[in-house]
Amino acid sequence: MTAKNSRKADPGKGRRGRRYEEAEIPLKRLAQARVRLLDWYDRNARDLPWRRTRDPYAIWISETMLQQTRVDTVIPYYTRFLERFPDVESLADADLEEVYALWTGLGYYSRARNLHGAAQSVVTDWSGELPERVESLRELKGIGRYTAGALASIAFGREEALVDGNVIRVLARFLAVREDVGETSVVEYFWRLASAIVVGERPGDLNQALMELGATICTPRSPDCEACPLAKNCAGRAAGDPAALPLKKKRTRVRRVEAVAAWIERRGRVLAVRRPEGGLLGGLWELPGGELEAGEAPDAGLHRSLAQALGLRLTGLENAGEIGHLFSHRRLRLHVFRGLGVSGRVRREGFAEHRWLTPSALAALPHGGPTRKALALLGVADPESHRSRLRQACGEIQA
Ligand code: SF4
Repeated sequence: MTAKNSRKADPGKGRRGRRYEEAEIPLKRLAQARVRLLDWYDRNARDLPWRRTRDPYAIWISETMLQQTRVDTVIPYYTRFLERFPDVESLADADLEEVYALWTGLGYYSRARNLHGAAQSVVTDWSGELPERVESLRELKGIGRYTAGALASIAFGREEALVDGNVIRVLARFLAVREDVGETSVVEYFWRLASAIVVGERPGDLNQALMELGATICTPRSPDCEACPLAKNCAGRAAGDPAALPLKKKRTRVRRVEAVAAWIERRGRVLAVRRPEGGLLGGLWELPGGELEAGEAPDAGLHRSLAQALGLRLTGLENAGEIGHLFSHRRLRLHVFRGLGVSGRVRREGFAEHRWLTPSALAALPHGGPTRKALALLGVADPESHRSRLRQACGEIQA
């Protein structure tokens, strides 16, 4: 990959509305930054488990887990995952449910589903070896532009760029790019900058150095410019307001959603339902319930949801409380109930599967954050304490 642009324009002087994909690349400044970044990385790189391996499969797992997730959260998941699935064949052969179980708590479960599907493609179509080229990597499920660049450069030493929030922040400040990074043309400009800076030896280390600098020194709110290897030539620092960059358009509005879920027990077994594949929390298990309609009371919404989706009628109900959960574009308020009696046979609509399970078996199923919080609220981390509370509640209702 070769950047052919000459250096003429100062990207920091771009006018609003300017087509940033046409802006020119400050090659000399990037070349200086490149040398300083690699030198800094050699002395300061954190010792992370995925940096001790050259195995493309292990690097792929780490890059997938690291999407939207902090490094210290990922480390124990990465270790457990590789102990259970040490190579792409073992992952491809596994039940998806087991993959979900190892992913429980990491969130964004579509990553686990895509990883599993992509592992099967690698075994079937690539004889068990991850392809090296970005174009081929991007044909695999769940591998987008960033992950393809990360794998190609870090695992295979190819001169391929990657752009994430850290890279944008460092480059926006270093070059004082004062354009809205919510605009596609501006993001494309960062891809071009990242492609220009990655040319040369050690492309994987260079990409990791950029991300590492953004994660540890050039942080969103308080960049530690005194400790930064780019400080001498940093235009954002020279302008005196590095923390104001990058400029971002207003955040997408978060939609508020209210929903209900119920613990429904019959003859010592609890009803669990599995969501359809795809979409939010796709394929995961949860307590039955559903979203409330506008203006609907939670208990009425629960009766309606259970009748519509499962053909069940609750004959007694106790409010256990509520939990909140924030998704990327959705703020969920979940009202949690204990069903104290149920009639009808399950007629399933809208769920992929249902099971009557012991509380501990239910707690062990792969489920998302809201269900985990609901189970904690119900005391299901300790099934016996939950049962005694339920017995007590039933007694009070009958008395
Ligand atoms: S000098 Fe400061 S603002 Fe510039 S890249 Fe370094 S940490 Fe970021």
